[in-house]
Amino acid sequence: MSITMEPNLQLNAVVENLNPFDNALSQLDVAVSHLGLDPNIHEILKYPQSQMTVHFPVKMDSEIIRVYTGYRVQHNRSRGPCKGGIRFSPNVDEDEVKALAMLMTWKCALLNVPFGGAKGAVTCDPRTLSLSETERLTRRFTSEIINFIGPEVDIPAPDMGTNAQTMAWMMDTYSMGKGRTVPACVTGKPVSIGGSEGRSDATGRGIVFVTREALKEWKMDITDITVAVQGFGNVGGVAARIFHEMGAKVVAVSDAVNGIYDPKGLDIPSLIACANRDGSLTNSRTGEPIGSKELLELKVDVLVPAAIENQITESNAHTIKARVVVEGANGPTTPGADQILRENDVFLIPDILANGGGVVVSYFEWVQDLQFFFWSEQQVNSKMEDIMTNAYREVRATALHEGVNMRLAAYLIAVRRVSDATSLRGIYP
Ligand code: NAD
Repeated sequence: MSITMEPNLQLNAVVENLNPFDNALSQLDVAVSHLGLDPNIHEILKYPQSQMTVHFPVKMDSEIIRVYTGYRVQHNRSRGPCKGGIRFSPNVDEDEVKALAMLMTWKCALLNVPFGGAKGAVTCDPRTLSLSETERLTRRFTSEIINFIGPEVDIPAPDMGTNAQTMAWMMDTYSMGKGRTVPACVTGKPVSIGGSEGRSDATGRGIVFVTREALKEWKMDITDITVAVQGFGNVGGVAARIFHEMGAKVVAVSDAVNGIYDPKGLDIPSLIACANRDGSLTNSRTGEPIGSKELLELKVDVLVPAAIENQITESNAHTIKARVVVEGANGPTTPGADQILRENDVFLIPDILANGGGVVVSYFEWVQDLQFFFWSEQQVNSKMEDIMTNAYREVRATALHEGVNMRLAAYLIAVRRVSDATSLRGIYP
């Protein structure tokens, strides 16, 4: 007796690998093989240099004790101290943090800031924690990793589920542990305690700067375009606001719970006020509802996935109708989806370039903290604009010269820089 499979079962027989660290390694493999790098260097770059896992207790408001798991991973120190965000998320695990740390190495190298890559996380759902529980969790986590981080070693910053307040608690806890105020131990702090002007908007603003460069290919201006943004937090919310301020028509936005669509353009300031007031877009009274996945399929000029990883996969990449995808989130597109987008002529600006404005201004904040000498917002924004615009042009020129897509071009530049630093320093001892 022969067994025949349903056609759709056959199609699903090969399940796409969504493990973020496997995907990070496969992107590295492609870059290494294109560059013809020494296999010994490739071997070094595959591994994080150091990593720490901690399990620590937190007293909840109800007086019960919960044990949380936290991670800090330092991928590569060859170009300087490590740098990377801290994520509070319910599903985060070691492989996700390793992947994000590696991505940070390439991002810092591409933007030529003197850091290696790191990432940290605590597996928790910040939406279910009270403010005082979040503070106790942040302080205990910081004290668990206090000897693993520091201004010359590894400098955390905000990421998903964390913000300037989280960084203020981290800075205070670190400083208490060291017996002196150490503003340069984290970036993304409030300005009043050593944060940089322009840092809270930096990632979103950088997204708009690189989009503006890309639009020149079609002789288009920001004021000519329609935009959809998935994710309405530090990155997506700010990008939507700046696109709106610069005259683009933002037709759809979404957060983890709701999406809103209006082909005539959304009133972004009122949506931001709603999200700030309620913590979600649930009570916004504009536009019509749209699912977060549906939003990705809109026919817009620019799509900004700025929420979480693995949003554009082999199963939905063929439905993307945007002309340009600008990766606000880290790892929103899988390698399989990348290829489908390429075949469909969707122009993609990769995460390590598109969302690099945050780490550029974090670098400025670190420099200002080390010198105790602070810059104006206008100075910060214009220096960041130069770096982002030049990085975009360098990646575009490499893509055209090598005949490769923008992601591979960005990796070629970044991996080459890290590889050169590793070779020049040599292997100790
Ligand atoms: P955030 O926590 O401030 O915001 C995340 C947003 O995404 C929230 O609005 C949340 O509701 C929404 N979201 C979560 N799951 C969703 C889903 N399935 N569909 C739609 N929306 C969803 O986080 P953030 O700092 O804005 O980070 C977002 C992404 O950008 C992450 O991948 C992060 O690593 C990356 N990133 C952040 C920075 C930074 O400076 N904060 C810099 C570079 C990259």
